[in-house]
Amino acid sequence: NVRTRIAPSPTGFLHLGTARTALYSWAYARHFGGQFVLRIEDTDVQRSTQESVDQILEAMKWLGLEYDEGPFYQTQRLERYHAVIEQMLAEGTAYKCYCAPEELDAMREEQRARGEKTRYDGRWRPEPGKVLPPVPEGVKPVVRFRNPPQGMVAWDDLVKGPIMISNTEIDDLIILRPDGMPTYNFAVVIDDWDMRITHVFRGDEHINNTPWQINIFRALGAPLPRFGHCPIILGEDGLKLSKRRGAVSVTAYQEAGYLPEAMLNYLARLGWSHGDEELFLRDQMVRWFDGSHLAKSPAQWDPAKLAWVNAHYMKQADDTRLAGLVQQQLVSRGVTVGDLDQLTHAAALFKDRCTTVVELADWAEMLYVPIKPRDEDLQAYVTEAVKPAIRVLRERLTEVAWDKATIAAAMKQTLAEHQLKMPQLAPALRVLVCGRPQTPSIDAVLALFERKIVLERLQSI
Ligand code: GLU
Repeated sequence: NVRTRIAPSPTGFLHLGTARTALYSWAYARHFGGQFVLRIEDTDVQRSTQESVDQILEAMKWLGLEYDEGPFYQTQRLERYHAVIEQMLAEGTAYKCYCAPEELDAMREEQRARGEKTRYDGRWRPEPGKVLPPVPEGVKPVVRFRNPPQGMVAWDDLVKGPIMISNTEIDDLIILRPDGMPTYNFAVVIDDWDMRITHVFRGDEHINNTPWQINIFRALGAPLPRFGHCPIILGEDGLKLSKRRGAVSVTAYQEAGYLPEAMLNYLARLGWSHGDEELFLRDQMVRWFDGSHLAKSPAQWDPAKLAWVNAHYMKQADDTRLAGLVQQQLVSRGVTVGDLDQLTHAAALFKDRCTTVVELADWAEMLYVPIKPRDEDLQAYVTEAVKPAIRVLRERLTEVAWDKATIAAAMKQTLAEHQLKMPQLAPALRVLVCGRPQTPSIDAVLALFERKIVLERLQSI
């Protein structure tokens, strides 16, 4: 039975890289009919916040990555970690180390001076016949894992293929801090074991941690999960995607008006491929995602591509749904909006030309907020030649039925009377009513507005 998990640390927002491995973990579990678990790794109590937990849960929900179990919190599992540590101390797979921080600093300093790699030298590691230093007073010990001194750690990475490292490269890791908090590499193993995780997808910044984790699994006699380490996401400049160079949180893209299905589609493709398929929905991904075709090398974040994917899903999106999203946008801008029906019609009319919900809201805003036509547009389009026709049309529009066909008929009649052509009248109306010379079909656009507002705006000439 396949069981996967995502284990974010609540020290910030849900990073795009984490969202991507969450997506892979989720899709893998779904593909094989298994379970997907959410675990909050909050043992860094200084940096963990409730706000971050909330934001992560919210972003998961927005993306639709529903989990079958959790959220579990590491800080609620401390007793379990302590019990395992006691057991390891008793069995000799872990030991107490009384080195004060200054002593460790000095140790590293000497190693550096000798041109060696800095590592814990094992001075508190019990060996047959070895006399340990006297226990100093007032020092709270850490607990270290007794790493096997020889042999190789090897695993067949689901993404990177076979990886092997010698135990002589690995020192004895701290697994419990003096304050009783377990370290990441220890807690993650106990959790993956207890939660019966079979496949771990995570960022490749953890590749160096995996040998320690494998050794701890082995020391505990716990079954090993398979590991898959996904390469980092690069920014457009080829450097690691980071906050300083643009949005890196899922929430930021939600706020910028991206649709979750576009985010998922784009994130999925960033490091995984299914033939030449560019556009697919969650269900298709679940059908296709079996852990193969994961890219070994880093992918580059491409905002233009994401925008293209989002524009595609904007066109596909249900108008009522878009209306709801636009309403939220406008409300957050302090705009008082009319009924959802009006916004639904607006969504239908404008969504094809919008990349994001924010752009759609920019269009819809003119239905409620006074517009400010640019002087150049007024001069260029609202000419003396069309003004008389606009005045007549305005009169006509005060009494006719308020729908697209009737408005179109009123315009036609006015054009004929004034011997004008649509390309003269339409841009003038657009500038006056919408504040811009280009819009979809003007009769449809006018019908969107409340009649009162159209009349008011045409009055201004
Ligand atoms: N808390 C770790 C992180 O956010 C989890 C890594 C893992 O998946 O094992 O990077």
